[in-house]
Amino acid sequence: MGVSFNQVSKVFADGTVALNKLSLEFDKGEFVILLGPSGSGKTTACRILAGLEEATQGSVFVDERDITGLPPRERNMSMVFQNYALYSHKSVYENIAYPLRVRKIAKGNIDSRVKDIARVLQIEDLLDRRPSQLSGGQAQRVAVARALVWNPDICLMDEPLSNLDALLRLQTRTELKRLHDDLGHTFVFVTHDQEEAMTLGTRIAVLNEGELVQFDIPRRIYHEPATRFVAEFIGRPAMNIIEGEITEGLFKADVFEVPVTGQPDGPVAMGIRPEQIILKDGPTDEAIGFELDMLELVEPDTLLFVNKGNASMVVRVMRDVGDLVRGSQIHLEIPHRFQHFFEIGDGRRRL
Ligand code: ATP
Repeated sequence: MGVSFNQVSKVFADGTVALNKLSLEFDKGEFVILLGPSGSGKTTACRILAGLEEATQGSVFVDERDITGLPPRERNMSMVFQNYALYSHKSVYENIAYPLRVRKIAKGNIDSRVKDIARVLQIEDLLDRRPSQLSGGQAQRVAVARALVWNPDICLMDEPLSNLDALLRLQTRTELKRLHDDLGHTFVFVTHDQEEAMTLGTRIAVLNEGELVQFDIPRRIYHEPATRFVAEFIGRPAMNIIEGEITEGLFKADVFEVPVTGQPDGPVAMGIRPEQIILKDGPTDEAIGFELDMLELVEPDTLLFVNKGNASMVVRVMRDVGDLVRGSQIHLEIPHRFQHFFEIGDGRRRL
């Protein structure tokens, strides 16, 4: 039971391939994130699920029923867009009640359902206002209330938080997560913000150039990225990637050398996340000497930009680094367990 995209492709009239054989399956009740850079096909996938866009090829199933050809109104899904349009001439109450009225729900029922969802979203005090009298965050919550009040099978959200300022965005994100935990709806949420994806998603579908690159729980997307693209897209600062060659258990890139285990000889890209590199106070058997090129304080962390020959890395240190200055020699450990290896050609993760 759930949703499945089966080899769905979308080619627009001008020849743009927005989706290329997308296959994706998820369960009812999940909070699925479609994540990827601009133009990767997230919105297109969402619109095809909603029935607002027709797939060029492939099919979409919900609960084992083929919905590919169904018009939007027969799909039992609601959608919240980035520019959610509330009806400006209707009160908040009437905006939320509207989908129920359209579905001819009995009057008494409408009142209790509007009030229930308003309570969950903490907008009970706003029910008499007009949309023009709301803050961005309040209007956003009204849009979510309107999308959920009629109990759709699936609620689709396309960058719903991107118009909000940073603080409000964080608060609304937390509210959405609570809402999902409480109500158990199926959410499909489009974003290009990896932090939003990591905090909200039960699973994240990473798209790039119309193709699904990885679909997994946030922890694995972060710790076991399937490709170099995912590795570099998720995490700030991005994972360090150094291209080099392994010879008999030693990875070399110019004068940078680090022992590796369980990897065959040959060219490879090695990855290590900035926060998983260990800054030592002085030379050790395992530590490698680097020159500190630049230092950025991003409280409470410090970012160290270091070089060794042609190899450059960023190190994130979560403590006071004392009197390190530009040009200092520093000693870094790159633990085996945090090393990632990707093929040079197609960027796939090496097992
Ligand atoms: P963003 O984060 O910028 O919204 P996205 O990942 O949601 O991007 P889509 O909107 O799905 O990407 O677009 C995927 C590709 O399809 C892009 O190259 C886009 O330019 C193209 N595209 C979208 N709509 C059309 C259209 N109507 N005609 C032609 N090309 C289109």
